[in-house]
Amino acid sequence: MSEQTQLSKLPIARVEELTRLIEHYRFNYYVLSKPLVSDAEFDKIFRELQALESEYPELLLANSPTQKVGAPPSSEFKQIKHRVPMLSLANAMDKEDLIKWEERLERSLEIGENNQQTLKYVCELKIDGLSCALTYKNGILVSGATRGNGDVGEDVTLNLKTIGSIPNEIKLSSDKLPGPFKTKMPELLEVRGEVYMPISSFTALNEALLENGESTLANPRNAASGGLRQKDPRNTAKRKLDYWAYFLYVTDPELKQPDTHFENLQLLEAYGFPVEPNRQLVEGAKEIAQFCETWDSKRHLLNYQTDGVVIKMDDRKRWDSAGSTAHSPRWAVAFKYPPEEEETVVESVSFDVGRTGAITPTANLRPVQLAGTTVRRATLHNAEQIKRLDLRIGDVVVVRKAGEVIPEIVTVLADRRHAGDNLQPLVYPTVCPVCATALEREGAEVVFRCPNIYGCTAQVARRIEHFVSRDAMDVDGVGEVLIQQLVKQGLITKPSDLYHLTEADLTSIERMGAKSAKKTLSGLELSKSRPLANLIYALGIRHVGVNGAELLAEHFRSMDKLVAATVEEITPIEGIGPVIAMSVVEFFAQPQAQQLIEELRTAGVSLQSSDIDYPQVQVDQIFADKTFVLTGTLDGMDRSDAEKSIKQRGGKVSGSVSKKTSYVLVGASPGSKLTKAEELGITIIDESQFRELLNTAVRKED
Ligand code: NAD
Repeated sequence: MSEQTQLSKLPIARVEELTRLIEHYRFNYYVLSKPLVSDAEFDKIFRELQALESEYPELLLANSPTQKVGAPPSSEFKQIKHRVPMLSLANAMDKEDLIKWEERLERSLEIGENNQQTLKYVCELKIDGLSCALTYKNGILVSGATRGNGDVGEDVTLNLKTIGSIPNEIKLSSDKLPGPFKTKMPELLEVRGEVYMPISSFTALNEALLENGESTLANPRNAASGGLRQKDPRNTAKRKLDYWAYFLYVTDPELKQPDTHFENLQLLEAYGFPVEPNRQLVEGAKEIAQFCETWDSKRHLLNYQTDGVVIKMDDRKRWDSAGSTAHSPRWAVAFKYPPEEEETVVESVSFDVGRTGAITPTANLRPVQLAGTTVRRATLHNAEQIKRLDLRIGDVVVVRKAGEVIPEIVTVLADRRHAGDNLQPLVYPTVCPVCATALEREGAEVVFRCPNIYGCTAQVARRIEHFVSRDAMDVDGVGEVLIQQLVKQGLITKPSDLYHLTEADLTSIERMGAKSAKKTLSGLELSKSRPLANLIYALGIRHVGVNGAELLAEHFRSMDKLVAATVEEITPIEGIGPVIAMSVVEFFAQPQAQQLIEELRTAGVSLQSSDIDYPQVQVDQIFADKTFVLTGTLDGMDRSDAEKSIKQRGGKVSGSVSKKTSYVLVGASPGSKLTKAEELGITIIDESQFRELLNTAVRKED
């Protein structure tokens, strides 16, 4: 084959196209903080280029994006040259990748197969923000820079100084500083870490933007990147950013930096830098995989976004022998969790009617794999959200599903529309899609509602579905499909009608045999004696959730007393405010609601609390004047049970730690409340200490 023919077989055009796309996406992501594609899409083309370059090494150019980091620094900032290049990290997508990485590392350290030594690693959560280097001269913060292209970063010193947790000056006051570090301030100290936006700041920022009619930010990473790279530091301060430090470089003839990475993290902490507390020292690939698995679900409990785990060889002395590529060091790797954001196409939008008549727009998507599940639908929340996104049918969108959260559309990739597409803006309905009644909007509410409360079959069905649901009357054998059929045939129009159904009614429904009908009837019979709190919740009174219903039932002990109660009588109940009180009174003022209660009474549904619901037992008030704050997941008890036991013993439960807090009860993967408690010196107890405290309260029968 001639040289000419061989060349023509090389995928040169594709390599060029991928190179151009990657550079373009990187610029938008790193410099403008406005990604054009999802991370998953970016990673896909990046890996395609890596694969082509490894198959055809002759196409690997020195300036290929796979050999570079980030993007050139923006000309809006002064530039800072990094003393040691700030590299990226190699990625591992699964356990096999981790094993291969460990094998490669052992080879580079010339650890033979028969060698018995097991390497130690530090596993750290991979924080989704942007890395920044801080330089301290004789203990004073003199400069701070973004990673930029790895060699040169942007000077964001003043902006970094607005982050409260970054010390402006290092103090040698901590007892935890080792030997010589206690007395000698290092001549030069460089700290590297991640600037991030706490999820709570991100949510608050987006709410404020929405209120001002401005467009919201796609995710905490972009919000942090855009926030740190502001021209005016006052604007950075408003973003309430934070920092986790993860590397330390000390330059001082008298100070020898600790040999292990783990000890260096401790040293960083002793100097007063915030270091992510959930790090762990492990041995071998198996323990690494275990750490990654454990944090896969727990990470959603944190107040910051993590997209993986960074694994670093603990022995720093061998980092140089392991070496680096132009892109990343060999002694570290980033294990990435499956993407929680993906691109897909909006095929249609449906408008669903809820039990309170609220219209919820839902996008029907081209099915896409996200965090281990196939996602077909995503909530669009309300009309404002559709307007904000400027969504059109056929749009390419980024959809996100994190933890247990319902999938939602984060951004519309408007740049992906083509001139000829002619996608039309969505028209929000003005009438109910089910009963055609004109929709209404109350005051400043963003939600449109169908006001045809008793005539709209969708609302009727949803209300009955709510009535039979688990936390309500918990009726076995009555589900969504059956209710829809019963409503359609006109056999039921309100919850009380369920109790008049006969076996003949039920068997008239398609695919319902005599056996299922009997099961349904016995399920209904059983539900008549549910506790009063369940019935109150089942009525679907606006603003009354499971907890509110529980409080109302405990206070009134009878439906008749609740029906007759005034706003003044309901408002003072602890945990119930004027909004709930008003809603309860308005609900029972409707003749249809009163009629419903009468029909439930006639059907034999219990309208009283029994002594079984509220045993006449008194407990020592050992927690009188004590305030508890709970953080993290408890192992052996429900959080609500723990709260109940505190309240039963006269204590209070608060959502935030302050000087007035008596105890902070800490479960697995606690949040920032634990740090705050430590700062304030509040007594911290774990679950077993809490149980011991509870047991000191002797139960006294009345
Ligand atoms: P990376 O995010 O895969 O990993 C390296 C980075 O992890 C470090 O630079 C550091 O900032 C961070 N990090 C977090 N916690 C750390 C810890 N404990 N220790 C060390 N480092 C830690 O690599 P990258 O080069 O920053 O970014 C590449 C990724 O960015 C891509 O995989 C892609 O997902 C995303 N990206 C997306 C687009 C887009 O258009 N959507 C464009 C470019 C890059």
